[in-house]
Amino acid sequence: MIDTILNEWWPETLHPDIREELGLERLVITRRRRRDQQFTVDVLENFRYSCAMCGFHAVLNGQATGIDAAHVRWHSADGPDALENGIALCKLHHWAFDKGILAIDDANVIRVAGAFVTQVEGGLPLESLAGCPLATPPRSLAIAEEFLEWHRSNVYLGA
Ligand SMILES: [Zn+2]
Repeated sequence: MIDTILNEWWPETLHPDIREELGLERLVITRRRRRDQQFTVDVLENFRYSCAMCGFHAVLNGQATGIDAAHVRWHSADGPDALENGIALCKLHHWAFDKGILAIDDANVIRVAGAFVTQVEGGLPLESLAGCPLATPPRSLAIAEEFLEWHRSNVYLGA
């Protein structure tokens, strides 16, 4: 039941944080919801299997690795499995995007929430993105502004 609620309301990247905050780590048996496989393939191809934010691209045994096809408007918030609602992101930037630390403005420029603070160089892969254009622009179909706007209004922690 916990799993059902988590899947219903939040993207999977945030489940570990929520479980930890509620002390649920030991109670939850993770069962991944079946996603539209075609969505994943289409989105990753649209971004050349590279992170839209940083350009990260890596291959392990002939397969792209460390990269996800993320929903801009969350699947749990009725975001469709559609190419114009998808963005390819590395693990770090997927988490930061779902967490509301990163957003994309209407000119395809990356924003970083002012509330995000880092004091070590390890935080630079997030902080240094502020004001940068997407490292990997979509090849065939742009992300629809309505979904980017939903993300800025409902997820992004900045102004
Ligand atoms: Zn990245």
